Amino acid sequence: MPDETKDLSYFEGKIIPSEDAKISIQTHAFQYGTAVFGGIRGYHNETRKNVFVFRILDHYKRLVNSTKIMQLQFDKTPEELAEITLKLIRDSNLKQNVYVRPIVYTSALQLSPRFHDVKTEIAIYVLKLDDYLDTQNGLRTMVSSWARFSDNQIPTLSKVSGGYVNSALAKSEAVQNGMDEAIFLDARGFVSEGSAENIFLVRNGEIHTPSVPSSILEGITRRSIFKIAADLGIKVVERDIARSELYISDEIFFSGTGVQVAWLKEVDRRKVGDGKIGPVTKKIQSLFFNTVRGEEAKYEDWLTPVY
Ligand code: PMP
Repeated sequence: MPDETKDLSYFEGKIIPSEDAKISIQTHAFQYGTAVFGGIRGYHNETRKNVFVFRILDHYKRLVNSTKIMQLQFDKTPEELAEITLKLIRDSNLKQNVYVRPIVYTSALQLSPRFHDVKTEIAIYVLKLDDYLDTQNGLRTMVSSWARFSDNQIPTLSKVSGGYVNSALAKSEAVQNGMDEAIFLDARGFVSEGSAENIFLVRNGEIHTPSVPSSILEGITRRSIFKIAADLGIKVVERDIARSELYISDEIFFSGTGVQVAWLKEVDRRKVGDGKIGPVTKKIQSLFFNTVRGEEAKYEDWLTPVY
């Protein structure tokens, strides 16, 4: 089949060919990481002949909150951003699984790191994307030698570009050690999250996950798992989690827009549970994938059709 898609982006207020969506090397955000971004998935459903974007308004509310935390000048509403995004996917004629990346960045060609009194722009681009990490075969992970930064160093509830230096260090260390992903501890030494995903431990049939004070990003997928688990009658507890609990959990899984729901088979060379996907993870993962693919009527209000 010929490729009938178009590579378009939203840039400086217009949808244009991505090859023309270029910024100067002098751009403020390029120097200082002074940008906030999001990551949103849309899933193609062949039977329903549509693409469904997952929790688009919740993602854009978080983006707007990120600009607020950082004092970035920004006046678009989540509803306006959702409308632009849906048009961008439609204009691109994408009828497959997609990943949308909106970024609000300090666009001035100026020196001096700051957030106040500097011009911003929003750009949005869209990629075809299937799995980002393996969701079926179990991930090998290690606790990072890099600690997660604390909220009073770089605000953890803002998805700020500069903060991803921390993620990049941990991810590279993990991959260069033959692992798939890293697990951060927070500044106190408690479990925080992965390089770009939240973490959940299953112990005695309950799900335990670090809370906001453990320097996590509040994931939209994490929030969806709270709801899915409650509906399945599985208790979820948010609390401080000790490193050694990673070694004796029955099951562990990651959640995130990129990673979706993926299970861990190893942490620090110790097998998680019996080294196979566990029953709780299996239930959550299966309901999650059915939901995002538009096969679960109960969670239809999380989906926005593109066409
Ligand atoms: N933590 C970090 C550091 C992330 O980058 C992400 C990905 N956005 C997540 C957690 C998961 O968040 P979400 O479920 O909203 O994608």
